[in-house]
Amino acid sequence: MSILTIDHISKYYNLDGTNQERALNDVTLEIAPGKITAIYGPSGCGKTTTLRIIDGFEEATSGTVLFDSKNLLDIPPYERLTNTVFQHYALFPHMDVYDNVAYGLRIKEHISLFKRLKNNLNGKNKKVLKSKKQIEEEIKVRVLKLISLVGLEGFEHRNISKLSGGQQQRVAIARALVNEPKVLLLDESLGALDLKLRQEMEYELKKIQRNLGITFIFVTHDQEEALTMSDKVVVMNNGEIQQVGTPIDVYNEPANRFVANFIGKSNIIDGIMIKDLLCSFDGKEFECVDKGFKDNENVDIVIRPEDIDIVKKDEGFFNGIVISEIFKGVHYEIHVQTENRDFLIHTTDYHGVNEEVGLIFTPDDIHIMEKMEW
Ligand code: ADP
Repeated sequence: MSILTIDHISKYYNLDGTNQERALNDVTLEIAPGKITAIYGPSGCGKTTTLRIIDGFEEATSGTVLFDSKNLLDIPPYERLTNTVFQHYALFPHMDVYDNVAYGLRIKEHISLFKRLKNNLNGKNKKVLKSKKQIEEEIKVRVLKLISLVGLEGFEHRNISKLSGGQQQRVAIARALVNEPKVLLLDESLGALDLKLRQEMEYELKKIQRNLGITFIFVTHDQEEALTMSDKVVVMNNGEIQQVGTPIDVYNEPANRFVANFIGKSNIIDGIMIKDLLCSFDGKEFECVDKGFKDNENVDIVIRPEDIDIVKKDEGFFNGIVISEIFKGVHYEIHVQTENRDFLIHTTDYHGVNEEVGLIFTPDDIHIMEKMEW
């Protein structure tokens, strides 16, 4: 079941009368309700355009967006089911925290008050109109709940300009959630925060999402954010989806060379799939766990740096010599030059430059992918 379906969306921007920029090419995506989806890819790959089409800020050149099976274009803007948190939070600087969060609700109340007044004047649907005091009391309950949810209790009457970046971020999130959107869209929303604050907000956002059960879709070019925050990652390149999967799937089983290269550093090797469960590269044959390729098909093979083990010289599949070593905090990142290539390896054991070593890996560590044309 999906709350949102992006169905064969393409988007071309008109640069001038004759030139067009292709931002999205035939993108199809199902968004599951109550989950966090990350749209991840390099700059210019079409992430923001996708988000803006979902939010109705941008119209697709072709294709449709369905919300709960209803065409987005048939839903009037004031009944939108989404809200967006931007990287630059666009808070109202002359209002305090409370008024910033209350703003959306007050606008909504005005619209519905206006509609009811109109109906009453026309003699239909005579409803008792709430007093301003009653409306403000109702707004207060929701606003205080949201302020507490984002951890800003006690800051209600603090001026926006007197808040830190992280606190402003929280106000922007509370403001976007106060109208109870079905889907919250976050456009590089944590991008302006420093690393520590960003990591803190990643946990906070996940907690808020779990508390409310709202669907979150966020755009990021930060790998850690994409992998740690999401239930599902959509990897994009050049206006097209490359892979959709859980963070573990896209990391462990990249669909192609682009994903393998973009998500984590990797060893990507030209190889041959001899037959099911048997591949070869660098002059040797290896058992693997993949099947379904043509016999002797040319493939791309990925071995993650943390999956290669270092053993004594002559005890591994290949011998090599350590050509560089950097301490990375938890592990060492080393390069080992074998006869055919330079292997990137992450290891918790120290191996100094010029040491002669052997390299091994298991069949599960070998990931086979269809060869990608560049
Ligand atoms: P991302 O968010 O992944 O960085 P965007 O969706 O912003 O990528 O952009 C995708 C492509 O569309 C890029 O090549 C970008 O230059 C182009 N693009 C985005 N917005 C416009 C616009 N308003 N006019 C023309 N080209 C645009």
